[in-house]
Amino acid sequence: MNVEWLLLLLPIAALSGWLSARSHFKKQKSTDKTSFNPEYFKGLNFLLNEQPDKAIDVFIKLLEVNSETVETHLALANLFRRRGETDRAIRIHQNLIARPTLTLQQRDQALVELGLDYMNAGVLDRAESLFLELLTKPSPPIQAYKQLLRIYQQEKKWIQAIEMAKKVQTIEPDNMDPIIAHFYCELAIQHMHTANKALMFLKQANKYDQDCVRAMLLEADLHITANNYRKALKCLLNIEQQNPHYLAEALPQLLMCYQQLNNLPSFEKWLNTILLRHPNLTSARLMLTQVTQLQHGSQAAQDYLHTQLHAHPSVEGLHTLISLGEPSNPVLVPLIRDITSIMIRHGDRYTCQHCGFSGKTMHWHCPGCKQWGTIKPTEIHLSALETLLN
Ligand SMILES: [Zn+2]
Repeated sequence: MNVEWLLLLLPIAALSGWLSARSHFKKQKSTDKTSFNPEYFKGLNFLLNEQPDKAIDVFIKLLEVNSETVETHLALANLFRRRGETDRAIRIHQNLIARPTLTLQQRDQALVELGLDYMNAGVLDRAESLFLELLTKPSPPIQAYKQLLRIYQQEKKWIQAIEMAKKVQTIEPDNMDPIIAHFYCELAIQHMHTANKALMFLKQANKYDQDCVRAMLLEADLHITANNYRKALKCLLNIEQQNPHYLAEALPQLLMCYQQLNNLPSFEKWLNTILLRHPNLTSARLMLTQVTQLQHGSQAAQDYLHTQLHAHPSVEGLHTLISLGEPSNPVLVPLIRDITSIMIRHGDRYTCQHCGFSGKTMHWHCPGCKQWGTIKPTEIHLSALETLLN
């Protein structure tokens, strides 16, 4: 590991700290020796003998902690942390905190940094207790709230996460409401077996974010489990107003509700109006094909999709059309169907609008950038086909 360039900074910093301390000392005493501190050479010796940890210890000791050198200590420790050498960063920060000469503000800053070291090292319980200690101060640093928010999300402690998100919102202008709504959805998921409790959390989610599609989908799930299909429908039909991009997620539940209510003609009508308002919604077109097949048979479904595919070509549409007409050409049709099936399996159905992460399953919390509600269903269409063929 090439740490030499970084370690070279240490003797320089130590030397500058030592010199500044010396010049300060000089003002008081005129009789001053012009020799180096022997500790400096000891440290340099360790460094040259490739014993960087011992060298750091010596230089840390040498670099007197005072108001002028605190920044140097912090900068060095942060460099170590950024390089992934967290244990070294921790040693420097712990050394800083142990010094009684630090101002309250400097001590708080060193505590925040040490907490970040623990976060990096994955020792969340230590980081948590450190940031909680900072919250007891008269004016806690915003970082303490933000890092606790991160910790509670990782540990899935949603009540505490909500509390921290609310605090962050009172200090910074960031709108945390949609995120808080997701935390309430997470709580609802933990309590889906007790419908009343889950519904209470979903109501809170809706209070914080009226456009929280996830809360609507979850509420519909609860109503479906209770065989209350009308209530479920009310929730699911609301999603178009909230965010039509997520309609694809609601379609399987909608089909189930209309089937249970024995009212597929209404679903057919609704899908037609949806496609008038959102002509690029491939998922709705495919659902309409399925409903047409259920009601009027395979030939009617084929005829519908065939005319649609000219104006709105899609791999999934082609795949469905081929599957519908399977018996018509026993050699060619299964072959083409297999090819389109592979294409669909290779295409990512969901994309994060924030970081570009894409995957095959829906995540409300992006695994890439850790943002909430940034992943949207992507309709597989011809442009996707082009990227697959290139
Ligand atoms: Zn992302």
